[in-house]
Parts: sequence; C-alpha cells; structure tokens
Amino acid sequence: MERWSPGSWRDLPIEQTPIYRDEAALAEVERQLAGFPPLVFAGEARNLKRQLADVAAGKAFLLQGGDCAESFSEHSADNIRDFFRVFLQMAVVLTYAAASPVVKVGRIAGQFAKPRSSPMEKQGDVELPSYRGDIINDLAFTTQAREPDPQRQLLAYRQSAATLNLIRAFAAGGFANLENVHRWMLGFVKNSPQSERYQKLADQITETLSFMRAIGLDPEHHPELRGTDFYTSHEALLLCYEQALTRVDSTTGDYYATSGHMLWVGDRTRQENGAHIEFVRGVKNPIGLKCGPSLKPDALLRLIDALDPENEAGRLTLICRFGADKIEEALPALVRAVTREGRNVVWSCDPMHGNTISAAGYKTRPFDRIMSEIRGFFAVHQAEGSYAGGIHLEMTGKDVTECMGGARAISEDDLRNRYHTYCDPRLNAEQAIEVAFLVAELLKA
Ligand code: PEP
Ligand code: MN
Repeated sequence: MERWSPGSWRDLPIEQTPIYRDEAALAEVERQLAGFPPLVFAGEARNLKRQLADVAAGKAFLLQGGDCAESFSEHSADNIRDFFRVFLQMAVVLTYAAASPVVKVGRIAGQFAKPRSSPMEKQGDVELPSYRGDIINDLAFTTQAREPDPQRQLLAYRQSAATLNLIRAFAAGGFANLENVHRWMLGFVKNSPQSERYQKLADQITETLSFMRAIGLDPEHHPELRGTDFYTSHEALLLCYEQALTRVDSTTGDYYATSGHMLWVGDRTRQENGAHIEFVRGVKNPIGLKCGPSLKPDALLRLIDALDPENEAGRLTLICRFGADKIEEALPALVRAVTREGRNVVWSCDPMHGNTISAAGYKTRPFDRIMSEIRGFFAVHQAEGSYAGGIHLEMTGKDVTECMGGARAISEDDLRNRYHTYCDPRLNAEQAIEVAFLVAELLKA
C-alpha cells in the first residue's frame, strides 16, 4: 500500500464531497482549523479503543446514538441535556440487562456532514443542490443557501467545542449520578403505555440500587457512580475538515483525528480505493464502517485488511444496516467470513438506515421494523456463535414525531405534528428508551 499522510486521500477518487468555488477561502479556513486546539485527545481515543476491545471480546456492550445531523440553529443546552439524559437512561437499562459495562458513544459534537442519495433536490420546477449538513451548506431552499461555504467549518468546530464542554461537565459533574438516572427511568416507566412490560426490569434495578446503598455504595462517595465515560463520534465525510484537525500525538508519535473520539465511514463512501477509506486508515482512532446490502464478504475482508492490518481489538466496529427484511439473509455470510479469518471486530446494529420509508410526504421509520432488524441481528449472531456487540441509533431527547409506532403508536397523521429533523427521522425520547428496554429483553434472553 502507498504511504499514508493526512492528505494522501486527496489523490484518490472521492464521493459525496462539496465543490467549493472559492478555493482561497477554503484554504484559509483549513489553515485556521489546523492551528486550533484539538477537540478530543489521543489518550481519550485510546481509552475508547480499550473499552471497544472489551466489546469485541463479548465483555461489554456498545451504545452509540444521537442526531442524524446536528444543526446550528438547534444548538441549545436544553437539547444537549435532554439527549444526554435519555442516553444515560438507556445505558443503565442495558448495563443491568447485559450485566456488563455499556460503552457510551454519542453521535454528537461533530455530526454535521451528510451524504445524500441525490446531489440535487427538486421542489416543483426548481432544482437546487442538495443540503449536505450545516458544516457544508444551509437547509433553506435557495441558490445562495445551498452554495457550500467554507466558513461553516469554523462554526461547526466552535459548536462542537461548546457541546463537548457541556457534555464533559454533565458526564463528570453529578448530572450522570446513577441515582438520578434511575429516578428519570422510573418516571419514564410510570408514564409509558407499556409500563407493565417495563416495570419488572425497573423494579429489579431499584432493588439492586437499594442493596448497593445498604452495603454503603453511595454515589456521594464513589466517583464511578457519580459520573460516567462518554465519547463522541461522527461520520468522517468532509475530509478537508478532518485533515485540518488531524494531529500527531506527542506520546506515541501516531496520527489521531481530533475532531471526535470515533469516526465512521458511511455506506456511500466506503469504496476500497476511495478517499474516505484512505483517510481513516491512517488515524489511530477507533473506526466504524457502515455495512449495507451491497457489501460482499470478500470486499469486507479487504476493507478490514486496509483499516485494521494489525487485527487490533477495538480498532474496528462494523455497523450493520441492512434493513429488517434483508439482515437475516445478508449478515451470516459477512459474519462467517470475518470469523473464519479470525478478525477481531465489534459487530453493531444500525436499525435505522435500512428501514426508511415514505409516509404522508415524510421520510419515516416504523418502530416495528427497527426492532425487527435488531432482533434479526441478535438471531444471526446467536446462530453463528458470534457476539451481538452494540446498537447504533438516530435519536433525540425531545418529543418529536418522526418515527412511526412505539408504545404511543405514532401514526402517519401524527408525523406532521413535530417533525423537526434536518435529515433522517429520529427516535423520540420515549421510543429510544423503549428500544433499550426491548434490547434488554434480548440481552437477558
Ligand atoms: C448515517 O449514519 O447518518 C448514514 C448516512 O448512514 P449510512 O452511511 O449507513 O447510510
Ligand atoms: Mn442518517
């Protein structure tokens, strides 16, 4: 393989990339970004890799989730807090059910760039370039708004820094206190139309906490009960931005992307000889690879060779997103190939991106299909003797109406009420916690 450098992707074919008209302005933004402080530190990325190695070994479970696309206009403390609160509740439920640590990775503090199925969007007779995420252009349907603007990368960097700052405070400063999280979770169960189904698990967690308190394990005195580890992740799509934030770690001399702890390559940009695979192969962060229906076992093995030549546990997470109707057919061949070659990977399930449909003029995802893909994922791993290591969700802490179904049976007609996403439909707070309870049933089975 050719020598890697942070810019070696520039010589290769690239998909899903914006064309900036003002090259000088772009170069100036890259120069500025390259001089800014890192958003995350190499040591943290290594800690995450160690935790993911435990997942690969079947000793922990990965929970990854957040917005499809973060936006500049919805950047508020409330949004971040509500997301984090829901995410922690899910983690507590899953920790109890899996009886093992849950590795917490948000799609947050950097998830701004979107691949699109079409480069153009048509409304009536007008056709304009598609919206590609706030780091690239603007959602408004005007020629000017859709023009890629490099200045947006500076805004995305600053928003990521502010988001991370708040999350770090939440994670360490008492908000993530286990007793708090448990109280919120009880509130959820009480109000859910499915409360009977969730009550038993909730009661078991309550009893466990009482027992812990009785033997003196009080969050006041135990920092591990008062705080939590939380990591960030996003799709490594806009490579000029990623390159500008790539730094040599002074301890190891290795390159790390410092825009987030974990980066993944999307299903549309994972070409073997393409720019995105080239970029991520050279940074030492944990890497995710989206695996969709068109990925064949031999191509997957070649990608694993490129991304993880040392077969290092925790380096590579395969995020499967086939669709509820395809997973049981497509996944076994991939699992067998990976197992046969003895590759050490984390298998995670993204039940969102293969289950998008159109209803009442909205992109939506039926809750039942989401759960059906997760069940299929667990069933395949059970049958193959491999480990179903995690889930990857698009979710929010807000009460939106973007995905149909769930305990409150959001209908096609309800979608219009609070459809707020900038890109793909997300699980709302209740639906997200429900997924955690239902996955808990699978983990305990
Ligand atoms: C995403 O995760 O938002 C995404 C676009 O996924 P995929 O690459 O799997 O389609
Ligand atoms: Mn998405």
